[in-house]
Amino acid sequence: MSPDPDQQDTAAMPQTSAVPDPLDLEAFRGNAHALVDWITDYLAGLDSRPVRESVEPGEIRNKLPDCAPEAAESFTEMLADLDRVVVPGLAHWQHPGWFAFFPCQSSPPSVLGELAAAGLGVQGMMWATSPAATEIEAQVLDWLVDLLNVPQRWKTTAEGGGVIQAGASTATHTAMVVAREACRQRSGASAEEMVAYTSSQAHSSLEKGALLTGFGHIRLLDVDSDFAAKPEAFLEQIAADRRNGLTPAFLGSSVGTTATAAVDPLPALGEIARSEQIWHHVDAAYGGSAMVCDEFRHHQQGLEIVDSYTFNPHKWLATNIECSVMWVADRRPLIETLSVKPPYLRNPASDSGQVIDYRDWHAPLGRPFRALKLWFVLRSFGAEGLRQMIRNHVGWARGLATRIDEHPRLERIAPVHFALVSFVHNDGNAATDALAKAVNADGRFFVTVSEHQEQRFVRVSVGSTWTTKRHVEQLWDVIASNA
Ligand code: PLP
Repeated sequence: MSPDPDQQDTAAMPQTSAVPDPLDLEAFRGNAHALVDWITDYLAGLDSRPVRESVEPGEIRNKLPDCAPEAAESFTEMLADLDRVVVPGLAHWQHPGWFAFFPCQSSPPSVLGELAAAGLGVQGMMWATSPAATEIEAQVLDWLVDLLNVPQRWKTTAEGGGVIQAGASTATHTAMVVAREACRQRSGASAEEMVAYTSSQAHSSLEKGALLTGFGHIRLLDVDSDFAAKPEAFLEQIAADRRNGLTPAFLGSSVGTTATAAVDPLPALGEIARSEQIWHHVDAAYGGSAMVCDEFRHHQQGLEIVDSYTFNPHKWLATNIECSVMWVADRRPLIETLSVKPPYLRNPASDSGQVIDYRDWHAPLGRPFRALKLWFVLRSFGAEGLRQMIRNHVGWARGLATRIDEHPRLERIAPVHFALVSFVHNDGNAATDALAKAVNADGRFFVTVSEHQEQRFVRVSVGSTWTTKRHVEQLWDVIASNA
């Protein structure tokens, strides 16, 4: 329906010549072009900026007026404020010298997908509220099953299915809720009697998930010298908990832990989960993207007996945050657990049982058209382009690891399964911290430090969309000259 002009005059802005009309579509066209130009210049200029701006707490807020504007402002002023207010308060996650945390990638096709989704403005909570949003999401995630070579039964055309969630944390929390309900139905245990198991290296989202779902206990179990879970520790703890009248309900394993990108032994943990009738969830938030390449897939052996899985295209598959894929091997427990059917959402398509209603696949009702950016990315890069990106990052990370291994004062502490290199200075924690500080003080790079059993270590995570071999070599020069 086209907007009613009479309605617009009263509902929108008073029409004086000085005041821009925010609903003027021709003005939107010009402003959008100007914004795309601005984004292009921002990205093109990143390499010559420091990777993080220097800013004091409250500094950015102080640049804003005390109250919202009474009168309309022009887009030109807002665009200027991107430079004046926003950019000076950023850590530039898309900077080619970003080696901190894990990457949070973006790419031009993904930005365009986000823009298209915002422009369409659909809310795809159910098939009926935008069939294209649901069907493109289901199809793209089924493509990814083949692209990553995860089990065929995870496809929506089989027993399982995929859904895009805001983050891996949310996906893991969803899995924990389903695990709790499955356990309650099977055993009659209350949540307080249930136990969740994972390694001490698992992401904190598992601990938070235990809080949210009300699990009475979470066990963060010891790891081996490569930071991977030890199946025997799980077996012992499960037996001890059963002896104490508790009910094992959830087992979380990781393909690429946050601190060192360790990979847990999925086949052994999967067998334990299966024989103990425990829900098995895999957090591959970081490592999952690497599975576009055949040579990393040995890390995901054992997925055939996994119940749920998550990985983040918004980390390492060129797609803007928020884009986290969750797959389940059997969609029925997920839907049965989360499906609530108020009368105002009923419609013939849902009642027919022929369609996917993604509102039943996670906690939120409303959902943006997130599949669009992922679809654009897969089509723009092609599988070949994504494989090349991952291989470049891993190759450069391994090159860096070799140099660290050859350096007399540096020592790598974990295998480089993907594109994360973790190392210490041999002179101890103070020297390791000082090294990271010196590298970051250079301004062109950002690395982070973590700690395991009171040992501090530097993490170099290669994975920004715009990083090149030159950036990794320059980073090495700065590390070596400060080591
Ligand atoms: N799991 C792992 C292994 C992670 O490294 C992270 C974040 O870095 C997460 C989960 C959380 O991801 P998200 O921010 O998408 O919730």
